[in-house]
Amino acid sequence: MADKVLVVTGGSRGIGAAVCRLGAARGFGVVVNYVGNVAAAEAVCADIHGAGGEAVAVRGDVSVAEDVEHIFAAADRMGRLAGLCNNAGMIAPALRVEAMTAERLNRMFAVNVTGAVLCAGAAVRRMSTGHGGAGGAIVNISSAAAKLGGAGAYADYAASKGAIDTFTVGLALEVAAEGVRVNGVRPGIIDTEFHAAGGAPDRAQQLGPSVPMGRAGTAEEVAEVVLWLMSDGAGYVTGTTVAVTGGRAVGP
Ligand code: NAP
Repeated sequence: MADKVLVVTGGSRGIGAAVCRLGAARGFGVVVNYVGNVAAAEAVCADIHGAGGEAVAVRGDVSVAEDVEHIFAAADRMGRLAGLCNNAGMIAPALRVEAMTAERLNRMFAVNVTGAVLCAGAAVRRMSTGHGGAGGAIVNISSAAAKLGGAGAYADYAASKGAIDTFTVGLALEVAAEGVRVNGVRPGIIDTEFHAAGGAPDRAQQLGPSVPMGRAGTAEEVAEVVLWLMSDGAGYVTGTTVAVTGGRAVGP
């Protein structure tokens, strides 16, 4: 049994995969959640096992309540849940708002918002001292888009991340006295496969030079901040969201 278990939603690729690898290096047993790409999830687990860590790949759509219970049941089998990184997220091809369908919006908010809230609830039921737990930390992955707005292309995605920012504050206050810290990370342009789903596979290369630091960020650079927020070093930090944007100002 692992002393401390970390659930990473969308742990198979990109930022989530980097969080899984770094979390394992920091001593967590890791639940690597994925929704479709089993090969990617198993590759992350193989890396972790190869480095002497503990990991299991678990399929589940975070927007489906039964799947969320399945993901957390796997964590229970591994050991004591100590952390959740609400990382799973989606974007859709660039559109102006007047062209967005209800189907697109419902899916976007189900995955990006409902999924994160359902997973947080499952984590709080296990980690809160109010439920007999030993405490823990939740890190929600937001986006610079929450502050910039996504005009002309991704306003729905940006709004879903705005909801995440507000949820980070609300849940943090709700469980502050129950041993559970809740924070967010707000990445800017990060070089992952995410942008292809938004219809711009080269977005990180194209926009990198416009960032104050002159480049896109890496998934590993985001993971470092996630794992710091998970750590005892952030023991008095809750209810805030940290920008990881290479200097691009994304507001308070
Ligand atoms: P990515 O490389 O496209 O990876 C997305 C991950 O989410 C994959 O592991 C995918 O699983 C999983 N996923 C998607 N829908 C899911 C669902 N319904 N249930 C469970 N898992 C699901 O994306 P990324 O760039 O790492 O993005 C991770 C997070 O960072 C997202 O929340 C995104 O909004 C946020 N973010 C990214 C950027 C950026 O520039 N990349 C910037 C700001 C914020 P499969 O492998 O099985 O498909």
